[in-house]
Amino acid sequence: MKTTVVGFPRIGADRELKRITESYLHQESTAEELIQEGRRLRKAHWQLMRNAGIDLIPSNDFSFYDTTLDTAVLLNIIPKRYADLKLSTLDTYFALARGYQGDAGDVTALPMKKWFNTNYHYLVPEFETDTQVKVVGTKIFDEYLEAKTNGIETKPVILGPFTLIKLAAFKGTTYQEHLPQLVAAYQEIIHRLSQQGTQWLQVDEPYLVKDLSEEDRSLFLKIYQNLTNSPRNIKLLLQTYFGDVRDIYEDLLELNIDGIGLDFVEGKHSLELVTASDFPEDKLLFAGVINGKNIWRNDYQKSLILLDKLPPKQFVLSTSCSLLHVPYSVEQESFPAEITKHFSFAKEKLTELKEVAENLDQETEGWGFNQKLFRENRIVEKEALSKQLAALTEKDFQRQPEFRTRNRLQKQTLDLPLLPTTTIGSFPQTREVKSTRARFKKQQINNEDYTAFLKEKIADCVAFQEEIDLDVFVHGEFERNDMVEYFGENLDGFLFSKKAWVQSYGTRCVKPPIIWSDVSRKQSITVKWSTYAQSLTDKPVKGMLTGPVTILNWSFPREDISIKESTLQIALAIQEEVLDLEANGIKIIQIDEAALREKLPLRKSDWYGEYLDWAIPAFRLVHSKVAPQTQIHTHMCYSEFADILPAIDQMDADVISFEASRSNLALLDDLKAQNFQTAVGPGVYDIHSPRIPAVKELETTIETLLEKIPTEKLWINPDCGLKTRGEKETFESLANLTRAAKEIRERLVNETIEN
Ligand code: GLN
Ligand code: ZN
Repeated sequence: MKTTVVGFPRIGADRELKRITESYLHQESTAEELIQEGRRLRKAHWQLMRNAGIDLIPSNDFSFYDTTLDTAVLLNIIPKRYADLKLSTLDTYFALARGYQGDAGDVTALPMKKWFNTNYHYLVPEFETDTQVKVVGTKIFDEYLEAKTNGIETKPVILGPFTLIKLAAFKGTTYQEHLPQLVAAYQEIIHRLSQQGTQWLQVDEPYLVKDLSEEDRSLFLKIYQNLTNSPRNIKLLLQTYFGDVRDIYEDLLELNIDGIGLDFVEGKHSLELVTASDFPEDKLLFAGVINGKNIWRNDYQKSLILLDKLPPKQFVLSTSCSLLHVPYSVEQESFPAEITKHFSFAKEKLTELKEVAENLDQETEGWGFNQKLFRENRIVEKEALSKQLAALTEKDFQRQPEFRTRNRLQKQTLDLPLLPTTTIGSFPQTREVKSTRARFKKQQINNEDYTAFLKEKIADCVAFQEEIDLDVFVHGEFERNDMVEYFGENLDGFLFSKKAWVQSYGTRCVKPPIIWSDVSRKQSITVKWSTYAQSLTDKPVKGMLTGPVTILNWSFPREDISIKESTLQIALAIQEEVLDLEANGIKIIQIDEAALREKLPLRKSDWYGEYLDWAIPAFRLVHSKVAPQTQIHTHMCYSEFADILPAIDQMDADVISFEASRSNLALLDDLKAQNFQTAVGPGVYDIHSPRIPAVKELETTIETLLEKIPTEKLWINPDCGLKTRGEKETFESLANLTRAAKEIRERLVNETIEN
């Protein structure tokens, strides 16, 4: 049996690609040096795969920024404003990716969006009326030949035309206008590759795992019938991932293609689909069995049982998706061997592919080791915790009394003015804050000095909020570098890697913590900071916590228990912290769920059954036990949740703040139409930009908000946390914010008197 991978991480073992790219962008390296390093990395990765015995090795999965952008550039989908800069090909590429400001002009970057249900981001290709789709790039051809020169036959990978259309933006035009050219361009790519002697081409169509409309289906079929109608000298693999292709599977079997790549990890229905009918003899099934998203070892026995059920006798063993979403290699970590043996990053997954393939014929050495690994008890279960979870009843997920009653009580206790002003939590993390924390972590300063430093920062932060007269204060979150890592470090059950970086976008990489075992709270986490801030002022200070769904979504989850169970464990730990804050006199507590929206299942039909049905209760569990007078806030970064508003309301928070500064009036209409009960703080200015909003401008924004939201339900705050901003612009912006709120407040009071 043959093996393949859908794609391999390109950043390198030590994020070399990030380093050289940034160095080039800062004009510290030449284009030639950048290109050389790219070449070196590709070669190293191809050789790694070859040495691991992988049969079909991918090429063109490498990218200096993003493969969707690579495809757009290859096909000349380059908006005029970028082409007009008349930069080199490489610099035009980076202008599309990051924007450009310089002698040649001033353009912003293409928008960036999350790649399906991952934390990777792609650049949104943009078609204009006069976009001429044609093959102008050579990357896919060059990289194939480059590998060939190194003695390695590869399977070039390209983003397919259907997914490209579905993800692209059409400005003043429609996809229909460009379809003939697009199909012709893909035909040409197929033709040129076959002339080069390429044996397989992998065409990625992940959009097929979404709910497909009739229009989607006929568009897809039209494209592929056209694309495959002429004889060709190259095999076509249609690759899907992140789910199953239930809406189109039968049609795929009819197409003139040579391979179908299915995801058997996230594709719940994949097995059912392939076993329901005979698999055509003229096609090869590419079975995505090795998990491309998580970092745990594959359970060989489970894989073999699955593979045994597959109808075709011949298939290619593959990864569930590109290995782009896992870190490079476990070899670079220094966990004890007892722990390391459970992990499999990209490099180790290559061995797994080989071993599973070999084990289909006969038992190999790796088999015994693998079996032992999965039959031994990895985790010492926390008995008390499982009892606690088992004992949870409806009541634990339901805060009492209901919203209206506690709302009244909170009004009395908190005595806040109309349109209360607040921030989302973090204040600027200056170089001083970051370097002091780094020194503390390296034990260059002791706990006492570090605490004193943080207290000083908190005191300054409180004094500033006092000065501009905000209504609800925060302590500033100076102790955290990251809203998930900080809690992970203070909870039992998390592991932190040294180099397990995963590309998030372009040169930005993240290092998600690993949930290793049962999660529980070791000691109080934020209480000392919040209570210290509260001791300095009469204004209420908000406690600041990260919610369980976000902590889970931004970590590598366990596979031996359900995500739901893990989330509930985290929820109980955060609940303890909530109650601890409350017991220590904190009257308002914000529980951030920045990443809740992000992991919505790709199919609408799964939103509730697969996700919201436990994610929302997990959030409620965190705050269900607080007194009616304690006010619970939550925060979400995205405003794109119009379609799940009822679920957001069911979180049963008292107040929710969210990003809204960029044209989000539609959401406000939905809030009104759906009778949204939670009080809301739509961000009144964009914190992603250093720009300082003027008082008048903020007043106008607030007035617009008031047209849609009842006065007693509206809070005034920025979009998100301020940690990436500079101090000066933050202070001025917030001072303007409180002034604007006061102006409007006065106007409202006068109006009431006049009436
Ligand atoms: N409380 C966090 C902060 O202010 C929220 C961050 C976020 O939503 N991403 O930084
Ligand atoms: Zn946010």
